[in-house]
Amino acid sequence: MAKRVVIAGAGYGGVACAQHLQKHTRPDECEITVVNKLPYHSMQTQLHEIAAWSREPDEIVVPLEYLFDTRRVQIGVDEIDHVDLENRQLVVREGKPIAYDVLILGVGSVPEYFNIEGLAEYAMTLNSVQNAVKVRKAIYHALEMARENPDDPLWSTILIGGAGLTGVELAGELADNLPDLCERVGISPSKIRIVVVEAMQTVLPGMDPDLVSHAKQYLEEKGIQIYTGVPIARASTDLLELGDGTQLRSKTIIWTGGVRSNPILEASGFECAARGRAKVNEFLQAEGHEEVFVIGDCALTIGENGRPMPPTAQLAEQEGDWVGANVIRLLRHEALQSFHPDIVATVGSVGRHLGIALFKGGRKHFGGFAHFLKSGVNWQYWLRIGGLGFLFHQWFHRHWQQPLPLESTETEALQEVQA
Ligand code: NAD
Repeated sequence: MAKRVVIAGAGYGGVACAQHLQKHTRPDECEITVVNKLPYHSMQTQLHEIAAWSREPDEIVVPLEYLFDTRRVQIGVDEIDHVDLENRQLVVREGKPIAYDVLILGVGSVPEYFNIEGLAEYAMTLNSVQNAVKVRKAIYHALEMARENPDDPLWSTILIGGAGLTGVELAGELADNLPDLCERVGISPSKIRIVVVEAMQTVLPGMDPDLVSHAKQYLEEKGIQIYTGVPIARASTDLLELGDGTQLRSKTIIWTGGVRSNPILEASGFECAARGRAKVNEFLQAEGHEEVFVIGDCALTIGENGRPMPPTAQLAEQEGDWVGANVIRLLRHEALQSFHPDIVATVGSVGRHLGIALFKGGRKHFGGFAHFLKSGVNWQYWLRIGGLGFLFHQWFHRHWQQPLPLESTETEALQEVQA
């Protein structure tokens, strides 16, 4: 009898896993179900481009129906509440519990607030298309209000808390787009201040020092004010208070200070480590639950240096693909294979035209080529998950603004987001 394989979450890992299983299994081996809160998959690595007005939201999403052969993969759109480990079922908010023989959990991450007072209430985040749209609207609104209230720093200041890759990508993109946005609104860009606060001594802590210094220099040349070595200690309406007592006032506060695993894992009783990431074995099975594989931001993956690996899209994709292959081995009673990540390079953008790239051999780039590499990674991803037709579709859409053929549910979801 076909085993019930359920994939919770259609992020980078979930999509890679489901596509692997769809391609390499027979219907008599397994029934594949993908459960996701929303009817689309989104390119999380481009959320800053939505927030900073470089792209429209529908440019970075793809309906799930487009990604899977729906004769082979059942798609369930529902919010996952928790995993009932004892009865082997996924408990969802709207529908009936979904029973599984094998479960793959790739439900992503949520913002990590480190218990900083007021942050969850008063800061926006950049962890979903909906939230990126909120940020985008808030920025535009702030510019309009700054035009009407020229001497009010509450509207003319945009605060970004946390200068990891998310914070730096957002700050750079926004600074590059500011002249256009300001022209549209009718205000001088010189009236608007972007401020970035980073708790560690540099922006992009842990990154190669040369790349850090190039990135910092570029951001400062763009007029961004950077505070380093001082943490955000408290947030309240219109205010960020730093550890040294500095008070920064703004109506537009964006928190990019880090992520933790989706709380579903802890709530379901998985053995979790720092930042709620589930402990997994070398095959990416959850500790004590061999029928459950955990991937992406939810899994505590230990790198070759013995330290936890940063949760990136690249890692999630590799884990999803690997787990797909291991699930097939499990179904065929073959020995599972240990996961060995292969992170070829870390690439990120610093503004609309520049980027940083650090290859595993130590080779590094700052500038246009690195930005081109990041765009190349995006195109390669679309090609991998959607094929050549979809890649062309995205290309034409981007350049000639033709509408993405969204399913009705998808259109409604996005309209809701954009309302
Ligand atoms: P992060 O944890 O990488 O960076 C958060 C930053 O916020 C850190 O530098 C941290 O020191 C700072 N911070 C934490 N608390 C603070 C406080 N109280 N006050 C001021 N600063 C504070 O988080 P992220 O940038 O959201 O990235 C999350 C993951 O996604 C990372 O693994 C990252 O590598 C990955 N990512 C990758 C890309 C890419 O590959 N292009 C882009 C974005 C994110």
